[in-house]
Order: sequence, then structure tokens, then C-alpha cells
Amino acid sequence: MKAAVLDGPNSDVRFEERDRPTPGRGEVLIRVRACGVCHGDLMLQLGQFPFAQYPIVPGHEIAGVIEEIGKDVTELQPGARVGLSALFSSCGSCNQCFNDDEFLCSQMQFTGITKDGGYQEFMVAPAVFVAPLPDKLDFVDAAPLMCAGLTVFSGLRHAGFAPGFRVAVIGLGGLGHLAVLLVRAMKGRVAVLSTSAGKRDQALALGAESFINLKTESPDEALRAWEGGADIIVATSPAADSMVAAFPGLALNGTMVVLGAPPENIAISPMDLIMGRRRLMGSPAGSRKDLRDVLEFAATHGLRPTVIRMPLEEAGKALKEMHEGRILGRVVLVMK
Ligand SMILES: [Zn+2]
Ligand SMILES: [Zn+2]
Repeated sequence: MKAAVLDGPNSDVRFEERDRPTPGRGEVLIRVRACGVCHGDLMLQLGQFPFAQYPIVPGHEIAGVIEEIGKDVTELQPGARVGLSALFSSCGSCNQCFNDDEFLCSQMQFTGITKDGGYQEFMVAPAVFVAPLPDKLDFVDAAPLMCAGLTVFSGLRHAGFAPGFRVAVIGLGGLGHLAVLLVRAMKGRVAVLSTSAGKRDQALALGAESFINLKTESPDEALRAWEGGADIIVATSPAADSMVAAFPGLALNGTMVVLGAPPENIAISPMDLIMGRRRLMGSPAGSRKDLRDVLEFAATHGLRPTVIRMPLEEAGKALKEMHEGRILGRVVLVMK
């Protein structure tokens, strides 16, 4: 089988022929049908995860079919359609694991960062961390939900989203465009904030009611003019200056949830925090429960991410184009 490999920080994607892995006890062998290309994969290539285990097969937005099951796997059978997120495994016995918070488990393993991921034709994974794919979701549409969709869904949930909320989304890439689709389907209202004027049409077509150009408008004033401000700001692009500029545009009791990690600190004015009882929080991808919930929600509401299909062989090109900021939507590697 073919596998795409990164040998270390700042290395190019290299392809190699490998033997198809054999699932051990409690594991399944997944025939990967589609794998999304996440900004996290680029961070891995750039060496921004100190805990990464190179050489590594990247990819943590996996949709595929069970090819083979190992010993003691009872819930899944060959032929089942499944997905796997960045949550490859966790200890299963700590407080976080018992509270649907496996992503905060200190023993967590990351798909495609500490364990080989989905940029290959077949991969093994622990059966209990694999989620069934609803029939209505095809593989290519499901893949971006495994990280981008999950991260936004879980972030909104933890930020206390409710129908009718005004949600401002900073950035309209993989996470941002799914944030617009998810909030609209959850009966929220959306404003998109971006530094690219060219994204206005896409934002409005996806269901945003307004577009705020971060280069020419003052985001805090524009948001406060929106019936008092945003109840939630979802910060997807890793730009601290955009977050700082938008923060005072939160409504009273509003929450900014940081999903994209800028390299520098986010310097928020304490008076903006205190005098509006505002919150600044972060949120990692999500739990197994969040994953099953977002898949079910997306299937029920017919969510269709904006995807660009590429063959596995173009994984290196996809990462390069992402690095240059030339991707509109989500690249999904499709296996033959
Ligand atoms: Zn644990
Ligand atoms: Zn990701």
C-alpha cells in the first residue's frame, strides 16, 4: 500500500510502499477513502508540535471502511463505514476520560501526530475510538467534520451556544466555513470577519448576514452595531491581532473561543473582560461524544462542506498551497 510520510520538521512529503498493517487486539484496519488536510498537518510539517513522533504519516480527518477487525472487537464488522478524528486513543480511566473529555486526558495519543494517520491507503486504529458514519454522509463530505467540524461544534457547545445567538466567525478557512454552516443550521446568526475582501461573497453564500473586512473596518465597532455585539466570537484564524481587535465587539456576558493558535500571546484589556463580564476561552478538537453528535447533526441537516478533491499523491502540493494561503475551503485527499 502507499503511504505519505514526513521524516521530521521541515521535511517534504515522501511516499513509500508499505505492507498493509495487521490489526491487533481491540484494533481495526481501516481502508481510508478520504482524509482532510488540516492546518494541524501543516504545523506538523513545520515542526510546531514538540510531542510529534517522526517519521509519521499525517492526517486526522479520516473517513473510510473497516477492512478487517482484530481480536475482541465486537461492535464493528468489516464493511462498516467509519470515521476517526485526531483523538486516536486515551487512557480510558482518568476523570477526563469518564467525563466525555478524552481530549484533555494526559495520556492522549494524536492521530497523524503521535500515531500514523490517514495519508495512506490503510491504517490501524483502536476500535473504541472509531465513530460510525451516518449513511447520509459520503466519505468526502464527512472527512472535514473529523477535525474542522468537530472543533467548531465542540467549541460552540462549551461556549454555551443557544439558538438565536449572534456569532462572529474570524477567518473563513476550513474551520471558519464550517462554523458558518453549523451556526446557521443550529439557528444562530453569523457575521464573518476576514482580512481577505475576496471572501465576502463566499461568506454571504454560506449564510452569513454580514461581512466585516478586518483591513478596512474596525471590528469592535462593527460588531457592537450588530444589536449590541456578538454573543460568541469563534476565532479560527491564528492571528492574535484580529482576536484582540474583535474582542471588545463581544456583547455583555459574551465569550470569545480561541480555536486557531497564534504564535504570540493574546493581549486582552482587563477592563473589557471585567466591565462586560466577558470571557476568553480556548477549546481543543472534541470528545468521542462530540464527534458522534456532529456527524449526526451534519447528516440530519444535510451539511455540505466546501471541499477540493485531490489524489493522495498530491498531499505535498496541498500542504504547500495551504501554507501559501491559496485554499478556499477544505482539501480532501481521495484514495483510489
Ligand atoms: Zn484518560
Ligand atoms: Zn485538525
